[in-house]
Amino acid sequence: MTDATPQRATVGARHDVTPDIVLLSLRLSQSAPTPPPGSHLEVVVRLPAGPDTRSYSLVDLGRDDGLLRIAVRRHHDGRGGAVWMHTLGPGDELTVSGPVDAFPPDPGPGPQRAARRRGGHHPCPGFGPRPAHPRQ
Ligand SMILES: Cc1cc2nc3c(=O)[nH]c(=O)nc-3n(C[C@H](O)[C@H](O)[C@H](O)COP(=O)(O)OP(=O)(O)OC[C@H]3O[C@@H](n4cnc5c(N)ncnc54)[C@H](O)[C@@H]3O)c2cc1C
Repeated sequence: MTDATPQRATVGARHDVTPDIVLLSLRLSQSAPTPPPGSHLEVVVRLPAGPDTRSYSLVDLGRDDGLLRIAVRRHHDGRGGAVWMHTLGPGDELTVSGPVDAFPPDPGPGPQRAARRRGGHHPCPGFGPRPAHPRQ
């Protein structure tokens, strides 16, 4: 699922996992189906230069309580997005887009297509397509 429509999210809780990693529970204003694993949120962060967007992977898809969780590592040498995220606490509101599934799983070519890619050899000898001109 890819939803680029901005919406409001409210911080439900924060947990300082380490001094540099904060876990934020977010409740989106618009309920949506459970996002696929690997999804992330696009979060509008407030920087001294103005608003900007940062991506944060979902570490909890909200199956149990409907809350999406992200873990943000503080960057001491960044432009300030992560540092701003570390100022957030319960009740704070954010503008987010997503969840965005930017890396959907690749099911792979499957045995038939893989065989064709290898040059027409069927994985089971004797059952593959016959050559147009049988060898002499
Ligand atoms: C799909 C995706 C998922 C992500 N998931 C997470 C996540 O789950 N948790 C998380 O903590 N972060 C995640 N990130 C990274 C996150 O989006 C931010 O980049 C991060 O929070 C830093 O933002 P910042 O504004 O503090 O730092 P930035 O200004 O973005 O800087 C980040 C780092 O890059 C360096 N840097 C900045 N500009 C340049 C430049 N021009 N040239 C070279 N180096 C530069 C800085 O020194 C710093 O170390 C994800 C990013 C993507 C794309």
